[in-house]
Amino acid sequence: RFVDVELAPPVPVFALTARYREDNHPNKYNLGVGAYRTDEGLPWVLPVVRTVESQMAADPILNHEYLPVCGLDSFCKAATKLVLGEDAASIAQNRAAGVQALSGTGALRLSAEFFKRCLGMNVMYHSKPTWGNHLGIFKHAGFTEIREYRYWDASTKGLDIKGMLEDLRAAPEDSVVILHACAHNPTGVDPNPSEWEQIMQVVRERRLFPLFDSAYQGFASGDLDRDAYAVRLFEKAGFEMMVAQSFSKNFGLYNERTGNLVIVSADPESLRRVRSQMEVIARPMWSNPPNHGCRIVATVLGNAAFYAEWKDNIRTMSSRISDMRRLLHEKLRQLKTPGNWDHITNQIGMFSFTGLGPKQVDYIINKYHVYLMKNGRINMCAVTTGNADYIASAINDAVTN
Ligand code: PMP
Repeated sequence: RFVDVELAPPVPVFALTARYREDNHPNKYNLGVGAYRTDEGLPWVLPVVRTVESQMAADPILNHEYLPVCGLDSFCKAATKLVLGEDAASIAQNRAAGVQALSGTGALRLSAEFFKRCLGMNVMYHSKPTWGNHLGIFKHAGFTEIREYRYWDASTKGLDIKGMLEDLRAAPEDSVVILHACAHNPTGVDPNPSEWEQIMQVVRERRLFPLFDSAYQGFASGDLDRDAYAVRLFEKAGFEMMVAQSFSKNFGLYNERTGNLVIVSADPESLRRVRSQMEVIARPMWSNPPNHGCRIVATVLGNAAFYAEWKDNIRTMSSRISDMRRLLHEKLRQLKTPGNWDHITNQIGMFSFTGLGPKQVDYIINKYHVYLMKNGRINMCAVTTGNADYIASAINDAVTN
């Protein structure tokens, strides 16, 4: 019984936050977890979300009835349109639709379960490095072949497109390839349009299955359409594909578990069958999804004034991140920190992949109480005008020490 149970290893990002919480140092900063922070270092409820929430609280019609297994229809439709585009042919031809899931993680899990059970797939490719949960999600769905494609080039601190294409060319048919739609986590390095074309060509030639992970739409460029570029490129080219969408970051709805799995199929009949299988998978996992977050998203996306306000809120977040990139870069330059730190301003999205090694990371945590991921990833939103000097000196000390 329980006495025989082995202690499982902690989840790195949550363990880091726990260490941070226990630390009593006055100048402690958590650059680990990927959540937006204001310049005061505080979590931010988007003003448009606050407004919709107060309307919902006062609405006498809303209730807590179960949603359908595949979720709130108005949410799934609006979310699907947000990523595929208003004019997507697959939507007009009734061969694209969404299934609500427990945020991005749940959407990925739903897709993995489907690939394994209904398509018999067993090989998944992810970028090296990637968001750690990609491995766990596919492993627990029963994939036994989890492989990497080269992505990050440590020497250029940019994309290793040659390595990526070589690895994908060597992938067996019917492998699932996870592609970060934008703002790659953890590197903050995305392919450019011509690189996306080349990736698409290999995916087509090798008959691989594209699964886009879209957790940061709006965060890469501040422009929702631009951040959906790669997804729309594949959709226009006629691929069958899926997109795991998260609204944790772009709506700040982290704990509401608001997500959507977009299915783009070759024809409406196949779509209907795939969706029916998604119900069979979701029912014994979570039965039906939560309501609060998806109702907020559906309300905002369905109302022109709210939608405009939301875009403004996103710009507030993405421009603060760009400002912090410039500030940290400037501070390191002033300190004459050895090495080239241009990648801090060149990378996009929420994170910067600093290039700091595990020893330097430990040094910074222990001496400065600045918490960052072992792989050197820092959350740029946790940098503020108030702490940038301190963080820059911590990095400078670790590099020069
Ligand atoms: N994919 C990537 C690349 C992520 O960074 C995240 C959030 N850390 C997710 C998916 C999913 O997050 P959530 O389940 O909170 O939507």
